[in-house]
Formats: sequence, structure tokens, C-alpha cells
Amino acid sequence: MTIQWFPGHMTRARRQIQDKLKLIDIVIELLDARVPISSRNPMIDEILRDKPRLIVLNKSDLADSRTTEQWIAAFAEEGHACLAVDSSTGTRVNEIPVRARAILHAMIERQIAKGINPRAVRGLIVGIPNVGKSTLINRLAGRNIAATGDRPGVTKGQQWIKAGTELELLDTPGILWPKFEDQLVGYRLAMTGAIREQVLNVEDIAFFAVKVLVKRYWATVAERFGIDQPPKDMEDADEIIRVMEDIGRKRGCLVSGGRVDLEKTSGIILREMRAGKLGRISLEAPEDR
Ligand code: GDP
Repeated sequence: MTIQWFPGHMTRARRQIQDKLKLIDIVIELLDARVPISSRNPMIDEILRDKPRLIVLNKSDLADSRTTEQWIAAFAEEGHACLAVDSSTGTRVNEIPVRARAILHAMIERQIAKGINPRAVRGLIVGIPNVGKSTLINRLAGRNIAATGDRPGVTKGQQWIKAGTELELLDTPGILWPKFEDQLVGYRLAMTGAIREQVLNVEDIAFFAVKVLVKRYWATVAERFGIDQPPKDMEDADEIIRVMEDIGRKRGCLVSGGRVDLEKTSGIILREMRAGKLGRISLEAPEDR
């Protein structure tokens, strides 16, 4: 799914989330563990203000676990609680309610002090398209999608989903836009498959993918494609293209005259990367910021 974001859409998305903030105690900001920079909304701090927040790095099954640990530490340093999960299998998803309650500890203590029986914490999942919001909601919900709540302030038709006894979620997540003024963000999201390839040129997407891959995972790339000449200069575009051509030759992507078919080669590289054939890959590390 690719949403065309125009200024009007962004304003509406922002207002929809800000309306929902009034109903909830905590925001669960969902990022793609492989691209935590590119999958982040550029205005998120401004939109959420001082609402308590738990950052969840989703699709961690596809990311390099060492880099994911670095991200968790980097967010912690900025004062954000952060947790890595895999919503497709449910790995560590059940820690979300526990962490949410821990963040809201003070609020819960105040309720207890006032003699109020603490209610379940209320949350909202927000994130850019394709980051896995629906998958996570379904995971957390199990069979617990509650009947339409008639609680004050809840939009008609809006439902709360019970994630265990400790957390309730609004059933419709907040959809945010990525920072697409930055061209590289578009390419990084396309590498993960979050943006449809037709929008961008496949050779360009693969170029940026290879650039990151050779820099961060040269040994894996060399082994997978049977190549042995790393780029002499990682920043030299001609050298990156040369590596792509080496891959193309190895895979028999040739056109008349023995030239490498870069388009076909690009398709192969991206397909294999997305299918996990190059192992678990993180395209962005905290030091890239
Ligand atoms: P939404 O647009 O944010 O609601 O994203 P979806 O929930 O529709 O997920 C987008 C795609 O990512 C789907 O193909 C999901 O199966 C996949 N997906 C979601 N979470 C994970 C995850 O943790 N790991 C993997 N490997 N795939 C996931």
C-alpha cells in the first residue's frame, strides 16, 4: 500500500492522532528495526508532545540483532523506553503491556494512593504505512477485540482491544508519513519493500542497497554472490556499480555484447535481500544519524 501524502493528508493524519491522544495514556511508536531513522515520522515529537511513549522496533526478525541492541541503547540514552519485537510470530510482543505499565508506574501509583482501582492502561499504536501496525494489533488482540466501547469521548465505532488484562488499545492505529523530503529515506523504505518499487527506479533502489550492503555486510555479499573484489572506495558510485556488475555477471544477467543487464541484476539483489537470503540486515545504525 502506498499512500500519496499531500499537505492536506498530513494535517488530517496529525489531527486524527492528536484527537486520539486525549483518550489514551501512552503511545506505542512502531518503527522498522532495519530502518529506525527512515521509518520515523519527522514531526513525531511535535505531534506527541509530552505524551508517554514506548518505542517498539518491529520486524526485528529481519534486522541484525547487534544493531538492534545498539538502537535500543541509543533510544534509552535519549530517555525513550524501547523494545524489539517480531509481530509476525509474536516474539516479545507480550512484553509491550509490561513495559507500558512500567512507563506509567507513577500514574498507576497515584490512582492506588487515591483509592482508585487502577484500570488497564490505554494505548495507541502509531507508525508509517507497512511498518506492521495491523499485524501487531492482531497479535496483541488474540481473540480479545472488545465490543464497541460506549465510554465517554470514544468516537462512535471506535473499539478498544484488550491486550491481556493490563493494556487496552484503540483498534485503529495512527497512520503517519515518513520523512520523504529526504530522497535517501525513500530508497531505504523501498529496499525494505515499504514503498512500491514502481514509484522509484529499481536500479537506483538496488544501487543504494548495494552501497549499504557492501559497507556493512561485505563478507555476506561476497559469499552469497561469489564475488571477491570489494569497492576500493565505498563512496565512489562507479565502484558500487562495478560491484553490481560483478554480481550480474555471476548470475548470468548479460545482454548482447557481454554487457551486464543492470535492471535484471537489481531485481535479483533486491529480491534476495528482502527474502532474507543475505541474512538479517540493518540498513541504518545509530551512528548514521
Ligand atoms: P501496517 O500498514 O502498518 O498496518 O502494516 P501491516 O501490519 O499490514 O504489515 C505490513 C507487512 O509487514 C505485512 O506483509 C506483514 O506480514 C509484515 N510484517 C509485520 N510485522 C512483521 C514482523 O515483525 N516481521 C516480519 N518479517 N514481517 C512483518
